[in-house]
Amino acid sequence: MKTNAAILRRSGAPPPYSQSRPLSIEQVDLSSPGPTEVLVRVAAAGLCHSDLSVINGDRPRPLPMVLGHEAAGIVVELGAQVEDLAIGDHVVMVFMPSCGHCARCAEGRPALCEPGAAANAKGELLHGGTRIRAQSETLHHHLGCSAFAGHAVVSRRSLVKIGKELPLTHAALFGCAVLTGVGAVVNTAKVQAGQSVAVVGLGGVGLSSVLGATTAGASQVIAVDLSTRKLDLARELGATAVLDGADPDVAGQVRKLTSGGADFVFEMAGSVKALENAVRMTRRGGTTVTAGLPPPDAVLPVNIVSLVSEERTLRGSYIGTCVPVRDVPRYIALFQHGRLPVDRLMSGTLKLEDINRGFDQLREGTAVRQIVNFLI
Ligand SMILES: [Zn+2]
Ligand SMILES: [Zn+2]
Repeated sequence: MKTNAAILRRSGAPPPYSQSRPLSIEQVDLSSPGPTEVLVRVAAAGLCHSDLSVINGDRPRPLPMVLGHEAAGIVVELGAQVEDLAIGDHVVMVFMPSCGHCARCAEGRPALCEPGAAANAKGELLHGGTRIRAQSETLHHHLGCSAFAGHAVVSRRSLVKIGKELPLTHAALFGCAVLTGVGAVVNTAKVQAGQSVAVVGLGGVGLSSVLGATTAGASQVIAVDLSTRKLDLARELGATAVLDGADPDVAGQVRKLTSGGADFVFEMAGSVKALENAVRMTRRGGTTVTAGLPPPDAVLPVNIVSLVSEERTLRGSYIGTCVPVRDVPRYIALFQHGRLPVDRLMSGTLKLEDINRGFDQLREGTAVRQIVNFLI
């Protein structure tokens, strides 16, 4: 079938993107879903920093590629062997397909699925190959989703079925921002009621961590960013203190507020400087968690004596250490009970044709989560 899609052919275009237009909106050909695959009508897709990192070249990916990895939609066609979904079901896409059989899946860590990671690195679907073409040109899939398109063929293993009462524009957020940001707090760090938290970097993921820490019962949630607008939003979402990340003594201020450092500090900005600060904000014996994704050659100098003698933990968190079929329904239930107001992260909706301008706003920090709404 034919559908409209946002294609990236070259990374590193000069901003503003509204002029250089790195994403080209074109009609593409989608193959029918193969065995274990599903054709989804994309209803809503969020603009995330991970897309921006492919556009600006920080995250090299095989090109040309149809971007978009945070999305929700409606099932329109089932490939062979898909027996647990029906046409018309609402689904959230998860940007790491999990095979269910590899060693990491078997130990309950599907976010680290080995065939899933290999397929994502190649820009292919879980069972190999691509399903998108623009005339004779083969287009790669972004993280198994390629959701900046009216329709997408994806692996069944990239989908979580959800209830139909949740608006699909809201549902999209649960595929990346919420799964990653809340999961870092409740799965990776397992923050307990009464513990102290700081979050460095307040994009959609970082603000989700602020919400997650508040919901988990953290005694203090200190939010750090360069943008006063995002700091104001963090305060509205439950942050107990907000600090300017440009302040050279920001780590000292966190240590002062927490009498020696926070129990858990989450680095969500994707910069080495932010992670260095996050380590300094963490108390002796505390844990620094990073879910930010800097360029692939970024290296962090670590003081090993401090790591040993202060029993520090520094750990990564990918997609919030999620088990998607367990966590997406949990976080949606929290939202529906008013405990996780992720709709507050939405800066607005836009049309696919306006996506380059949307990435300008994300780059400039004037928007948190903009959603391409394909149903308008
Ligand atoms: Zn994302
Ligand atoms: Zn697996």
